[in-house]
Amino acid sequence: MRYREPVFRPPSEANSYLLPVTDGCSHNECTYCAMYLTKRFSVRPPADVLEDIAHAAELMPETRRVFLLDGDAMTISASRLIPILEALREAFPRLQRVSSYVNAISINNKSDEDLVRLRELGLSLGYIGLESGDPLVNDAIVKGATIDEQVTAVERAQTAGIKMSVMVLLGMGGRARTREHAIHTGQVLSRMDPRFISCLCVTPVEGTPLHAQVQDGTFEMITPEDTLNELDLLLQNTEVSGAVFRSNHASNYLPLKGRLPVDRNRLLEAVRAARRGEVALKPEHLRGL
Ligand code: SF4
Repeated sequence: MRYREPVFRPPSEANSYLLPVTDGCSHNECTYCAMYLTKRFSVRPPADVLEDIAHAAELMPETRRVFLLDGDAMTISASRLIPILEALREAFPRLQRVSSYVNAISINNKSDEDLVRLRELGLSLGYIGLESGDPLVNDAIVKGATIDEQVTAVERAQTAGIKMSVMVLLGMGGRARTREHAIHTGQVLSRMDPRFISCLCVTPVEGTPLHAQVQDGTFEMITPEDTLNELDLLLQNTEVSGAVFRSNHASNYLPLKGRLPVDRNRLLEAVRAARRGEVALKPEHLRGL
């Protein structure tokens, strides 16, 4: 396997074969993100990708899940993705799922026919970072796509049969926009109607613009207790037809898991119990960031 470090994947891809299709992130400007700051974006030569697949097929022929690296494998054209997906199907007879991080522009640049074709060939799950549904916060963090573009991307992918997992960042609006951030994010999740929702807590990482803003006082972090208020507002404002909801990423102060809408009252009650001090929040030293 040939990897250029660092390599990132969602927690739910822990058992997947990680296949580098691109290196780095084609956008690489989100103010809070340090993931690919040390990696210049490039698309891997198709021959190298196919060679890696053939090698992996010898080592791990039972592979069922494949995650396409890196920050946005969907940025490459459908005509380049199709031979990769075909090779994966050929190499791994038991393949059940191919997934990748995606960004809105990469999805919206593809035709409906392309998206359906990619789904037919096995690409069945995309992870997209909405982070905030508040347009002001979305601009401030230089997300690279408008809220409407992100909603459209999720709708189009899901219409093609590609399930979408949407990540949001509690605290992304700072103290100044905490309430607007939480309410708008719930409302935008409702418009997107994804199959999975993951809440993480924003963490300023050295070297990022966000870290510099925290240092110079232009961005004020919310408290752990404030994240509970945001969770409460977000859950109240999220109306989806059926989604797994998680706030159990290592960065969270209160791990939650359930299904929306059926578990909403239970989840809200867990948040409110924590707000009343009846449930202890995860101490800082136990948060894996
Ligand atoms: S699009 Fe994703 S990987 Fe790229 S900079 Fe933004 S958060 Fe980081």
